[in-house]
Amino acid sequence: MTWCSRRALLRGAALAPLAATAMDSPSREAERYFAGHGTDGHRTLAYDLRLTYDPAAATLDGRAHIRAVAARTLRQVHLDLAGLSVHDALVDGIPTRPYRKGRKLVLPAPRPIRAGTPFTLEIGYGGRPGPVRTPFGLIGWDRTGDPYDGTLVAAQPLGAPSWFPCNDRPDDKAEFTLRVTVPRGHQVIANGTLLHRGGTGSSECWTYHHPGPMAPYLAALYTGRFARRTWQARDTATGRRVTGRDAYPARISREAAYDLARQPEMVETFTGWFGPYPFETYGAVVVDADLDEPVENQTASVFGRNHIDGDRTWETLVAHELVHQWYGNSVSLRDWRDIWLNEGFATYGEWLWSEHIGEDSADTIARAAWHTMDRRHDGLRIADPGPDRLFDDRVYSGGACTLHALRLTAGDERFFSMLRGWHRAHRGSSADTATFIAHAARSMPATAEPLLRAWLYDTRLPPLPPAAT
Ligand SMILES: [Zn+2]
Repeated sequence: MTWCSRRALLRGAALAPLAATAMDSPSREAERYFAGHGTDGHRTLAYDLRLTYDPAAATLDGRAHIRAVAARTLRQVHLDLAGLSVHDALVDGIPTRPYRKGRKLVLPAPRPIRAGTPFTLEIGYGGRPGPVRTPFGLIGWDRTGDPYDGTLVAAQPLGAPSWFPCNDRPDDKAEFTLRVTVPRGHQVIANGTLLHRGGTGSSECWTYHHPGPMAPYLAALYTGRFARRTWQARDTATGRRVTGRDAYPARISREAAYDLARQPEMVETFTGWFGPYPFETYGAVVVDADLDEPVENQTASVFGRNHIDGDRTWETLVAHELVHQWYGNSVSLRDWRDIWLNEGFATYGEWLWSEHIGEDSADTIARAAWHTMDRRHDGLRIADPGPDRLFDDRVYSGGACTLHALRLTAGDERFFSMLRGWHRAHRGSSADTATFIAHAARSMPATAEPLLRAWLYDTRLPPLPPAAT
């Protein structure tokens, strides 16, 4: 199969009209890029998803237990869920009659839930999940293998409702537990740590837990048959050991083991640059499908079999997805308009890795990227590209050039200290561009703010500072 997502479809897809693009005020609900997606009515504390997947019928039977807190008085609770049917629901243990409103699932509350009050939801649902149509193509749950007997989730940015009811906002982060039953002989990989695996007869239940907090779009579930490899890396910021677990189709084991082999060195190097590794574990999951791009699912990034060739051709992407665990996943976005805080940082991580292993320096790559952007420049604003250009290449390379300009101006010591401080200050939460500019300005009072405003908001491309000598 060919997996179509994000940038591939951006080139050809008809884009739906979306929200207006006011500058850097994501706190105002109406100005969010996908304002109809997710809700500001509640904040989620925890998802506990109990799922049974039948690969022969491609059906999912689910029961979602959700704990949340009301942000205002609620007479209804709104969730996002696409394509699957709901057969029963409870609010605070009391049955209610859920109904659909487009991709919204509405649960009337038996009595009003006052602002600040915790509440629980229980939703029975199921059907044949599949990717959802979004302005970026078909995204979310999909099948893998030939014949199809496995599954993957690649939900960035709007695909999480393809497999569970959620408040699908990048800034509504929660704890996750996944209990997934599959036929014996099939494997399950999900975010976080495998707590338990067992069952009787022909099926087996795999229980994963991830304290997160994690945005719904980064939740992942992979089923199928994998070869597994465990590795250890030293977190140079804390001295603790990080355990990695990779998974890939057995027939490409040799190539995958080679292509992914430098992840322990990446963890050791990145913890020196960015600070402590933010989660309890990590792993690369290579699925038996061709993907347009890998996706940085939290603690379990997904790669296509086309990203493995036994020659490390795609190693920069292995670095990119790992860098996202700090920038994008641990520090996540307040709104999608701030996407450069994810992609600019992860792309700059690729360039730093290239420099580290003795290939092209970050400066060489940045200057080449600058010339490419200069030729194509059409006024795109990196920190507010517009919802239809969220994954434009220039958000990636322009964001990375922004960081390189900051590095050249600050010097390495101050620059990397500022990057570590950014993660330390916002670990486990969400942040926006204005907060980053204020953070950088504390390290570089005279220079950071004008430099960042020019790079991130000007419609003209600023020059790169001279290379360091
Ligand atoms: Zn990325």
